[in-house]
Amino acid sequence: MSSAAGAVTDALHELRTRFAGVRDGVPADYIPQLAMADPEAFGLALISMDGHRYSTGEADVPFTMQSVSKPFVYALALCELGLDGVSRWVNAEPSGEAYNAISLEPGTGRPDNAMVNAGAIVTTALIPDTADTPRFDRILDCLSRFAGRQLDVDEAVYASEVATGDRNRALAYLIRSAGPLPVDPVGAVETYFRQCAVRVTTLDLAAMAATLANGGVNPLNGDVVVEEPVAAQVLAVMATCGMYDTSGDWLLRVGLPAKSGVSGGLIAAGPARFGLAAYSPRLDPTGTSVRGRIALGALSERLGLHLMHNPALAASTVTLVTTADDLPSAPTEEQERALRERVAVVAAQGALDFTAAERVLYALDESGPEETASVVLDLRQVTGIDTVARSMLCSGLARLTEGGRRTAVVDPAGHLEVTGGGPTAPRRFTSREEAVERAAREAGRPTT
Ligand code: GLU
Repeated sequence: MSSAAGAVTDALHELRTRFAGVRDGVPADYIPQLAMADPEAFGLALISMDGHRYSTGEADVPFTMQSVSKPFVYALALCELGLDGVSRWVNAEPSGEAYNAISLEPGTGRPDNAMVNAGAIVTTALIPDTADTPRFDRILDCLSRFAGRQLDVDEAVYASEVATGDRNRALAYLIRSAGPLPVDPVGAVETYFRQCAVRVTTLDLAAMAATLANGGVNPLNGDVVVEEPVAAQVLAVMATCGMYDTSGDWLLRVGLPAKSGVSGGLIAAGPARFGLAAYSPRLDPTGTSVRGRIALGALSERLGLHLMHNPALAASTVTLVTTADDLPSAPTEEQERALRERVAVVAAQGALDFTAAERVLYALDESGPEETASVVLDLRQVTGIDTVARSMLCSGLARLTEGGRRTAVVDPAGHLEVTGGGPTAPRRFTSREEAVERAAREAGRPTT
């Protein structure tokens, strides 16, 4: 049976068909086991903030995360040590260099960022290692929660990298010799190899990207994997450093935080929109999947995901700015009109953030004939409000009151409720009629 949402799968499928013929690049072979990957495998997946899953091609074929593990282990380090605690040892500057570059900041010895190998090894070393919870268990648990299922290690790929990973070991020795790092990067290299060998599918990667895009909450199961600020910090570093020496060009053309890995996996996150992932082992010279790069680039363009694009105007926030229409009847028409001119109503809808709150505050000022004595703010159609918008609205209403206008809020859901109340908590009503009636009655009286 064909479903309406099948149109999303069709869009993925169409991209896969369009780019499946691209045969540029070869699978990585410096880790011998990776050279055995099927060069034709090509999976695409997309997961929405509601946890809707779409995929096409080899989206269930397992492969190892490699560098795609780096942002998630960075997230774990940020949870454990905080941004300042991590930034002391790993910088957050785009290096403009290859993933395995041997470059440390002169003076401090800090690696450029957590997305290149040097920074990733330090990041892994910063994860606590205790007798009851070894470092790798913490990492695997964290990666699994991002994916929404228990992940495991591809032991053959791990062994292959252990046998050939001297460049990364050399990097670790260099880091140890260069700075006062309180943890041992050399000891952490084997754990880093293990994290790179964690096995995922394209759909798993899309879930992991979607969790970052969703403020750290896994959209498949509601698990709060990391706090929202940590998700934002990780996305910021992915945006500037996730694509190694092509990060600037990627941000320019595709406009999404992303991370690639040498097994052919690639993730991109559209904040508050989608998690995207691609898998195709043919790599370009920078170590990024050739088809993954073009497919996710095309997908971002097709879905209008570029972060710097002017977003489509949200539905209007303010739905009504008018004098009251539900006034209690007054003895004469003239008295009723007089009342009407003294009470204004502003109604808002949707989710209120700072931008939306600014519109509402402006409408409150504009409401009704000049300086009506009372204004009713109707929030019944508001679906959500963030803390910034709440405090802006409360102080805006308080300013009106100070200026001599009476205010009342129709807010049965308690959007403006501030714990502890206080002088800025506005008067709350459950119906517009009730609020308007009260406002009308009081309209003539002084506010103090
Ligand atoms: N395990 C690989 C390495 O450290 C990861 C590199 C990558 O995926 O970019 O060389």
